[in-house]
Amino acid sequence: MVTSPVVIVGAGLGGIRVAENLRSGGYDGQIILLGAEEHPPYDRPPLSKTVLTGADDRVDLKPSEFFDESGIDLRTGSRVRAVDPGSRTVSVERGGAVEELGYGTLILATGLVARRFPGTDGVAGVHVIRTVEDALALRAAAASARRALVIGAGFIGCEVTASLHGLGVEVTLVEPTPTPLSGPLGEQIGQMVTRLHVEAGVDLRVGVGVDELLTEDGRAVGAVLSDGTRVGADVVVVGIGGYPDLDYLEGSGIALADRAVGGGIACDGVGRTSAADVYALGDCANWHDPEGNAHRVEHWTHTVDHAALVAAQLLGHPIAHQPVPYFWSDQYGLKFQMLGSPRPDDEVHVVDDDGRKFLAYYSREGLLTGVVGAGRVGKLMKARQYLLTPTPVATLLG
Ligand SMILES: Cc1cc2nc3c(=O)[nH]c(=O)nc-3n(C[C@H](O)[C@H](O)[C@H](O)COP(=O)(O)OP(=O)(O)OC[C@H]3O[C@@H](n4cnc5c(N)ncnc54)[C@H](O)[C@@H]3O)c2cc1C
Repeated sequence: MVTSPVVIVGAGLGGIRVAENLRSGGYDGQIILLGAEEHPPYDRPPLSKTVLTGADDRVDLKPSEFFDESGIDLRTGSRVRAVDPGSRTVSVERGGAVEELGYGTLILATGLVARRFPGTDGVAGVHVIRTVEDALALRAAAASARRALVIGAGFIGCEVTASLHGLGVEVTLVEPTPTPLSGPLGEQIGQMVTRLHVEAGVDLRVGVGVDELLTEDGRAVGAVLSDGTRVGADVVVVGIGGYPDLDYLEGSGIALADRAVGGGIACDGVGRTSAADVYALGDCANWHDPEGNAHRVEHWTHTVDHAALVAAQLLGHPIAHQPVPYFWSDQYGLKFQMLGSPRPDDEVHVVDDDGRKFLAYYSREGLLTGVVGAGRVGKLMKARQYLLTPTPVATLLG
């Protein structure tokens, strides 16, 4: 049950959603939302899409009056440095001063930080994309760049590539696995992503890594790849993922999940951590699914679902764990979508492919595990119902 005051660490998507759900669910006690960034809560998916291209800068998750109107005490520029479940306090650094803040219920939603390429600290022209400042800095750099090197063809690397390409920048995309996105989706679908980049004219280098970043006068000018080739670039984007920065939990006794299952804050199936009245959700949290498997997931919808589950649990009317994992990505004017929990080693059944748009079902031991599509929004969403209960993939293959 919820105990006042509720202190939420991390004023991103998960933080604002859990606060909002508590209020709409009837909780009228104190809610303090602590965010390390200076911004009110904002949305990250547009950063690599419309913000990077300059098509639309709107990212705020709530209008400014929302916080006063809903009685949510938003404290930006406030970084939690330590948590002490014994005394039920957090240490908050704000403007150089540190304050101890008591909590009744603590919710941790601190997201990720972008992984840097080794040895690039302080090197000009090297970018990551996690915050609004990152996106604006990359956009500014792209305005005067002719060539870009994107390291890593995961979802964000692919999106950044498509966005930079749309801005007229020549992009080399480097990926050590055999295709873009083969990590999450397997090689067969990875080939379909490959053809989009190649048809657009992107210089895609797969099966190679970046051995060394080349610099001149402290500025990145390209890289040497593991096959010995050199790539020139005016701007370098590192898209090699992120990790939960949980230094603030050191000494708290709050259990972390094993790295083999994705790391992050270890939680049960409703977000409870190992400490009483401390919950975690979103990208930083490692939850147990209904089958008891531990996962850490870095998807928007997953975070929103978590926030609803935690709030319901705290309000004393827990909801059954029904969410079907969902992820989308926008590249070259196409919406990529993924439903369920497909694995790269699942059997893939491509049921629709016009050379650009496609739809594929994934199965394991004959049962549907996921659906992946590009430009097939309606058909993909229709398949959602089949992921709610174990369904033989043959049902969909007709
Ligand atoms: C560029 C980009 C594009 C994306 N595109 C998609 C997409 O197309 N589809 C999709 O499904 N998902 C996408 N995502 C993922 C999605 O945005 C995340 O899953 C979601 O933001 C997770 O929400 P969160 O609240 O867990 O973390 P965040 O939104 O990262 O919020 C965490 C907040 O906590 C703050 N914080 C961290 N440590 C502390 C501390 N010690 N004290 C106080 N505050 C702290 C951080 O500054 C941050 O503001 C994208 C992510 C990025 C970066």
